[in-house]
Amino acid sequence: MQLLGGLLVLCALAGQGRCADASIDWCYQDASCGPATWPVSLAVEFCNGSRQSPININSSKAVEDAELVGFSFTDYDNKLGLTKIKNTGKTVKVTLANGTVSGGGLPNSTYQSLQFHLHWGNGSTQPGSEHTVNGKRYPMEMHIVNVKAIYNGNTTLAVADNESIAALGFFLEELDGPATMASTYWDTLASYLPNITNGGDYAYFADKISLDDLLEGVDRTKYYRYLGSLTTPSCNEVVIWTVFKESIKVSKEAIELFSSTVRVANGTSALLLNTYRPIQPDQAIRTNARPTTTTTTAAASSGSSVTLAAAQMAIAALWAFKGV
Ligand SMILES: [Zn+2]
Repeated sequence: MQLLGGLLVLCALAGQGRCADASIDWCYQDASCGPATWPVSLAVEFCNGSRQSPININSSKAVEDAELVGFSFTDYDNKLGLTKIKNTGKTVKVTLANGTVSGGGLPNSTYQSLQFHLHWGNGSTQPGSEHTVNGKRYPMEMHIVNVKAIYNGNTTLAVADNESIAALGFFLEELDGPATMASTYWDTLASYLPNITNGGDYAYFADKISLDDLLEGVDRTKYYRYLGSLTTPSCNEVVIWTVFKESIKVSKEAIELFSSTVRVANGTSALLLNTYRPIQPDQAIRTNARPTTTTTTAAASSGSSVTLAAAQMAIAALWAFKGV
């Protein structure tokens, strides 16, 4: 997870006098500044912590928790919600105009949606999600970064709170079916990449796209939850992670544009590839509770209860089939 846009926030979250700005010259691909060096030569102390992200999610070890209910999203339907798209030299980041997240078993707070960014591999054949599920790495991963609204920019307080950021992770993968069924919104978003090929380049959205558009087709009541960290230096352990089970289905062309278009710096620099941190040690994982199969209100003699029971059996079979 690439952190917030503001340098001020980055510096404060880094804490202890260290500042996660350009002075920490980390990278993904070069051995001199890649992930293995983050806790060592870069001396980013949090990157050696005990609740680091990303992780592999072993679905068989995920403990069901009835408190992991649905989320409340506000302004995710705002067609003007995406304002600016930027090549940071590390990722492609989209600044959000507004939007909040609450519920979903998060602490009793509202989290402000500030930005989202992407992680990817190399084309559609070399996947680059950060989290993996049962060892499977997806082609891409989207991270929506949300910060507790109560801090309202007070980063001193935020850095002292180990639940100050709620990150929402969504996997992206190529649609296995008719290409016309893939999300056209992601094609639209990817069409901006040729305008931001160099590190530091940015553009403003002329098209009307909402977060709901980009998350189309994903059941947001099905997710994994664990406590982790930022996945980029300074790796602060302040993140409540939500990783959604269902993936966003996009076109092969949209995936491939990310690894073939944007560069680390100027036009002669390397393409931005494999923008993910390696898997970190396991953490305790919870998941939303499965639908109940116990009927408590239907009358035993009514026809509808038979239908209900059949539907519940079908749901139970579906869950079993999915192996979750
Ligand atoms: Zn990220």
